[in-house]
Amino acid sequence: MSQIETLPAVNAIDFSLEPRLHETWPTNFNDVCLRSSGNCHPGENPASAGETIFPSLPPLHQGHPDVHLRNGIMNSTRSSEDHEPDSEKAFFVADLSQVYHQHMRWKANLPEIQPYYAVKCNPDPYVIRLLAALGTGFDCASLNEISQILDVGGIDPSRIIFANPCKAVSFIRNAASKGVHTMTFDNADELYKVKRANPNAKLVIRILTDDSKSLCAFGIKFGAPLHVVPSLLAKAKELGLDVVGVSFHVGSGCYDPSVYTDAIMRSRAVFDMAREAGYNFTLLDVGGGFEDALFEKAAFYLTEAINLYFPDRDHMRIIAEPGRFYVSKAFKLAGHIIARRAPLPDPSKSEEQVAKVEEDPDQPKVMYYINDGVYGAFNCILFDHQVIHPYVLSMNGSFHVSASEAKHVCSVWGPTCDSIDCVSPKTVLPAGLQVGDWLGFDNMGAYTVCAASQFNGFDLSNVIYTSGGIGSNEVHKVLASFAAEGNGL
Ligand SMILES: *Cc1c(COP(=O)(O)O)cnc(C)c1O
Repeated sequence: MSQIETLPAVNAIDFSLEPRLHETWPTNFNDVCLRSSGNCHPGENPASAGETIFPSLPPLHQGHPDVHLRNGIMNSTRSSEDHEPDSEKAFFVADLSQVYHQHMRWKANLPEIQPYYAVKCNPDPYVIRLLAALGTGFDCASLNEISQILDVGGIDPSRIIFANPCKAVSFIRNAASKGVHTMTFDNADELYKVKRANPNAKLVIRILTDDSKSLCAFGIKFGAPLHVVPSLLAKAKELGLDVVGVSFHVGSGCYDPSVYTDAIMRSRAVFDMAREAGYNFTLLDVGGGFEDALFEKAAFYLTEAINLYFPDRDHMRIIAEPGRFYVSKAFKLAGHIIARRAPLPDPSKSEEQVAKVEEDPDQPKVMYYINDGVYGAFNCILFDHQVIHPYVLSMNGSFHVSASEAKHVCSVWGPTCDSIDCVSPKTVLPAGLQVGDWLGFDNMGAYTVCAASQFNGFDLSNVIYTSGGIGSNEVHKVLASFAAEGNGL
């Protein structure tokens, strides 16, 4: 890398919308179009209007999410030409067929285990409606999450597990008044609280397991070690409380699914301890931690271990609390380059001279600033230990970026005034990238939107919803019949 030409940022971008639309649709656009609706023409925007299934929610479009990333960028460019305020905001595209696909994958690999979606992972209203319609349960950690699920309609409170072992007394009482009785605990104080606030609770003891093989370990905060389980169960018995089963969480983003084997073995030990204490456990909750890429492997370990340690399970229910697995891949984010810091060209030096004085070509020399950062959707960098890989969505008014385009090492930053707000400290992007261009980010569905703040006055990014390319019809059918029953409106 030698000299960087710094172009004037004002009006740097000029999408010539109509002609370019035809030129730059993805080569597989016909496929996308045919799969999604059947009666649209190549070059025509297949999903411009979208459909209203739930009046309280934004419309649901059809078609591949990449088409909607492009549409979103074109719409944003159009409205910025009209000088609409905040027209170039970052935005998500959510592909609900991805969520549907994950559910099918779950059913195929773990047919015996009922998923209770962990709402905290992404409480998106469409995701919740789709999963409700598909018949999953829900893992809630607070009264607000419980209300959000019950307010959808059509979800019986028995489909909720209050899976936070350390709850406010008022939460336990209010959950009970809403009909939510299944809840976890891992300490003796919680038992006294439950006794006061909901003596009819169906308690699930959360145990400590090996969470050292995961991105986010929970063991330092939650889970009863096996050696204290007998005394906790004795205390519950003494208080006349009903303990119905055991739960664990191997840690979120578990990268060694063999830990499930050990966790199931421990659960077996707790079932036996329960019998000693005078309980007959009927519920095994295997928690979350399922990683998309390792899911089949995790399912294999789990199934093996369950067969080994629970050979007789006719009167037993097995549930899980997957979060990340369902939503991670379903959301993509488009971020707009709002600023750039690049060295000015020095006309007195030749390119060779400049190259010579450059200390380390691997060090980022150009900084890009986009309009979402670690205080927004990219909080996953801080809280969820994610490493972010941006790619180019549009450059200089085109969706086509040639592979031969020169690249350089650069860094990508969020919009706030805090220096911790770094999206990618070092990445490789085309050297021609400038203010007005758009970057894309995949796998932005888990632990992103849910924890985003509006620090420094930056809004949360909007979501464009699509029922997807493949699977669109099924998603549509499931949601429409859920709505037809009067739910989710
Ligand atoms: C966060 C959480 C989950 C979801 O974990 P994932 O790794 O996203 O699957 C499930 N159960 C409990 C109790 C949690 O705290």
